[in-house]
Amino acid sequence: MGFMILNAAGERVLPGETVIDFRGDPAKLIKAVRGQAPGYSGKVLVEWPKDGWRQVYYDKVFGLVVRWMPDVPADFPVQPVTSATPEQPYTIATCGTCGRSWDDALVTSYTPAPAARCPFEAFHPLDLP
Ligand SMILES: [Zn+2]
Repeated sequence: MGFMILNAAGERVLPGETVIDFRGDPAKLIKAVRGQAPGYSGKVLVEWPKDGWRQVYYDKVFGLVVRWMPDVPADFPVQPVTSATPEQPYTIATCGTCGRSWDDALVTSYTPAPAARCPFEAFHPLDLP
């Protein structure tokens, strides 16, 4: 299971980006370690720039929301791609919800994807109850 990390504005935050705690102090986001679930807060691992100290905090300390996001199985007909290749720079589509990209020129049972649909919808972040 992977994670999706969102800021207060609902925008994706990626590992390596700077996050600000409730005191206004910046830290480097290393990774999410737990998603929100009933009775559980999300948690993130951050690194403080002053001394390189790494520590786990609740996501809300940094105004973040960590959600669980199922991984795409290795045998799923469409696999996420990380970037456009020089051979096919115009056929890479990206989902605004999960942030995954795929080659929409590939003909599978899921792609080309109908407008505004994502082939990875079954693996989108889990809704909070
Ligand atoms: Zn998606």
